[in-house]
Amino acid sequence: MWENIEVAVNKCDSDKRKDKPDQNALGFGKHFTDHMFLMKWDRQNGWHDAEICPYRNFNLDPASMVFHYGQAIFEGLKVYKGENDQIYMFRPEDNLERMNTSALRMCMPRLPVEKVLKGLKALVYLDREWIPTNHGATLYVRPTMIAVEPALGVRPSNEYYFFIIMSPVGAYYPEGFSPTKIWVTDKYVRAVKGGVGHVKTAGNYAASIMAAEEAHKAGYTQVLWLDACERKYVEEVGTSNIFFKIGDELITPPLDGSILGGITRDSVIQLARSWGINVVEKQISIDEVIAACSDSSLHEIFASGTAAVISPVGELCYQDKQYIIADGKTGELSRRLFEELQAIQNGKQKDPFKWIVRIG
Ligand SMILES: *Cc1c(COP(=O)(O)O)cnc(C)c1O
Repeated sequence: MWENIEVAVNKCDSDKRKDKPDQNALGFGKHFTDHMFLMKWDRQNGWHDAEICPYRNFNLDPASMVFHYGQAIFEGLKVYKGENDQIYMFRPEDNLERMNTSALRMCMPRLPVEKVLKGLKALVYLDREWIPTNHGATLYVRPTMIAVEPALGVRPSNEYYFFIIMSPVGAYYPEGFSPTKIWVTDKYVRAVKGGVGHVKTAGNYAASIMAAEEAHKAGYTQVLWLDACERKYVEEVGTSNIFFKIGDELITPPLDGSILGGITRDSVIQLARSWGINVVEKQISIDEVIAACSDSSLHEIFASGTAAVISPVGELCYQDKQYIIADGKTGELSRRLFEELQAIQNGKQKDPFKWIVRIG
């Protein structure tokens, strides 16, 4: 059915276009562009009514199933403006494929990846003046799918919306690339095997807020999550994946059901391997991390994710003890990965992995 969807383009009247925000005070996810992509799904018609339209509110019934049972999935990716105003997207197909993995787990309909990618490119091109040009600033893209059938009762919805909104965001490190302080929790868990930790569904983030609040109160930026069974093995940090440089190995926990397979994680693994670094996907316990910190074989810890790309860790707090990592400074490998990934994303560096999609 969806093979035939056409995308209608309804442009915003020029007098209704919003003023662009100050590029030096963008923050994250506070401003939204003039247009959005929207399409609808129901059991009879499949995907239909695809349109690029002015950014607008939804008119939803209070019984819409997403409000009650949380069938909601999302993605996050970035658009960059490089030299000569060339526009680049980073691995957008991987995001849409991952969204289909999330959709499958949440009993939501599959997206037609090629069609959506075409719609996304058209949307980005239409709102291209919103892509920030300041160093490190980008246009953040948020594809989302929600259950909108007005009905109570726990079962898959018969109606969904899929939409894409876009937000110009500031540089993640306006004062330079600097390490964060991480709070290891053995009180809360993020995900269990057999659950939904490996997909980007809204409830995971609602469930994580309390631990993050406690970490913030204690003066830490993010939570490091341990496995839900033994509260022993490292899983993720906040909404990012995590890497440890110990001895001559770069270690990251394996994707075995409770960890989100980050596209940045995959990019780090491929890039580091191309540099001859020994990347190992294996379980690592918090005790091993602390032992490596004590015997100085732990050289670096960093997190990976779309928002920050690479986020070096300068301090861990576990069971009320503080551990300083890499003298509290940004490690050499963290910096090299950050700079190389950013250069590829901005089109300033060769793209041997074919990660970049050009627009226009
Ligand atoms: C989105 C996300 C990541 C990072 O994925 P990227 O594709 O690299 O942005 C890692 N962990 C969680 C829980 C996430 O939601």
